[in-house]
Amino acid sequence: MKRLMSLITIVALLLSVAIAGEMDKSKQIPTRDEIDEQYRWNLADIYPTTDAWEKDYAYVESKIDHLKKYKGRLIKSKNLEKCLKESEELEKKLDLLYVSSHLLKDQDTKNTTSQALAGRIASMNQQFYQERAFLWPEIQEIPTKKLSQLVEQSDYLKQYEHAFDDMVRQKEHILSEREEELLSMAGQMGSEFSNIREALTQADIEFPKVKDDDGDMIELSYGRYSALLQSKDPEIRRGAFKGMYGTFDKFKNTSAATYRGSIKKDIFYAKARGYDSCIEMALDGDNVPVEVYDNLITTVHEYMEPLHRYMNLRKKIMGVDELHLYDTSVPITAESEVKYTYEEAVDIILKALEVMGPEYQANAKMALSSRWVDVYETRNKRSGAYSWGAYGVHPYILMNFNGTRNSVFTLIHELGHSLHSFYTNKNQPYPTANYSLFVAEVASTFNENLLMNYMLQTLKDKDEKLSLLDQWADNLQGTLYTQVLFAEFEREAHSLAEQGIPLTVEKLSDTYMNILKSYYEGVLEIDDEYALTWSRIPHFYRQFYVYKYATSICASTDLSKKVIDGEEGALDKYMAFLSSGSSDYPIELLKKAGVDISTPEPIASTLQLFDSIITQMEELIEE
Ligand SMILES: [Zn+2]
Repeated sequence: MKRLMSLITIVALLLSVAIAGEMDKSKQIPTRDEIDEQYRWNLADIYPTTDAWEKDYAYVESKIDHLKKYKGRLIKSKNLEKCLKESEELEKKLDLLYVSSHLLKDQDTKNTTSQALAGRIASMNQQFYQERAFLWPEIQEIPTKKLSQLVEQSDYLKQYEHAFDDMVRQKEHILSEREEELLSMAGQMGSEFSNIREALTQADIEFPKVKDDDGDMIELSYGRYSALLQSKDPEIRRGAFKGMYGTFDKFKNTSAATYRGSIKKDIFYAKARGYDSCIEMALDGDNVPVEVYDNLITTVHEYMEPLHRYMNLRKKIMGVDELHLYDTSVPITAESEVKYTYEEAVDIILKALEVMGPEYQANAKMALSSRWVDVYETRNKRSGAYSWGAYGVHPYILMNFNGTRNSVFTLIHELGHSLHSFYTNKNQPYPTANYSLFVAEVASTFNENLLMNYMLQTLKDKDEKLSLLDQWADNLQGTLYTQVLFAEFEREAHSLAEQGIPLTVEKLSDTYMNILKSYYEGVLEIDDEYALTWSRIPHFYRQFYVYKYATSICASTDLSKKVIDGEEGALDKYMAFLSSGSSDYPIELLKKAGVDISTPEPIASTLQLFDSIITQMEELIEE
């Protein structure tokens, strides 16, 4: 009986492969007309016709140079209010024109009509912000006391209270008009370091040929590198690693000089603006104290044990005693074969969002089924996924939904962004409706956590469960451990340069290697070539930025746990956060949401969760 069964299964399998194969040959990416209307976003919600778009465009064009009349007169009573009001009216229209033309372009990147619209609005945008360039420097010159008086007298200006406060806070770092002009001229030179790096590592770089899984010699590239590291064959992974790092080794002196230059640029600006250090300047933009950054690194170092257990688990599943860093991208669980239709995905998402209460759930349902989403891949559509919108209209979601579990996670991630925008736009006036990057990824990863929690509770299949836990652990390793490792290197490199220690290849490499070893020594084989990783990471040219990935994931993990556990008041606080836009500083907004990211607790609780995920994986494997 058993034998017969398996034969039938084999025949059925072969049949489905044959059908799939045939379908693939004839299967073309559909055009937009071939996709049912309900699965296409409805851009008519922004502008019902091209004429309506043109009418707004003409309106902005006719008004664009009107703001000039306020130049030099903002301090006069009522002028500030009038100028900001007029500017806001045009900005809102510009946003709508800009977003609608870009959404139209992204749905069919080869469409020349939408390309032309996008081009026209881009240059009008530039013109507008040039005409309006006087606004904020001039507000800055209004004495603080006078500014408070103006705000006191006008309900409209109260909407700008936080923005004014933020400006006054940073005033001591703003220089004279001539000095600012010089800094801005120097900025054009300073930005070249990142361009040099890009030219070197994208255009001039030449990769060797390496062996792939079919035994063919293929030219290495960045895209192929990550694919080759997932090969089951250790020799192929090793070959790709040697090819990549061997290439970077050839121009390591140029890389060091370029990075050194970039750090010297950071030091120049920090000194010119009167900051004690580069890190202090970089974090000041979000009003984040340096202790938050230091705290993050210290706390992660207290949780190396679960990371080592994760690596050991990998060894066990892969059946090896020795694991190199370049072996850690190999998937250790079989890829899930479960496929979801869009309707099933929506259904699962709504169930996962049950803990958010009926109102949020209803809004999620509306977002997913009222043509906010452009669901499927169509010919010449932009790849990937995003959530985007403008004030005054609901947000839109671009998807390339393909039915995989990953696609369902992407959908709930983008939905998190969209509902954050939706609630913020509903509750905030325009000046405080734009939330900062520091909090942007909280709502999206919060929703991913809810889906993870729901799927783990409902999935019965052991392998599915294991692969889901692995996805979660891998995600936390990448956004928390790895980004904090990078953040630590940035802090070290800047600190060395600030002490006047020359950043030679050796110094940078030793510094990177020491930090890398503090994470993985004793559990992974760390090949010497990895010391050069500092030369491969483009993010280092945007100083002290990657730590935000780590703080976001810790905030969202902590907050979602509180909501899932039904902690009293947790949901109300989180909903208030979604509605709060940029009405306060990011750390304050998160505090109101129920998490104090300036303390070690949320970081520790996220790392404890990582620990428990590893324990669950260990138990499943033991079974
Ligand atoms: Zn996102």
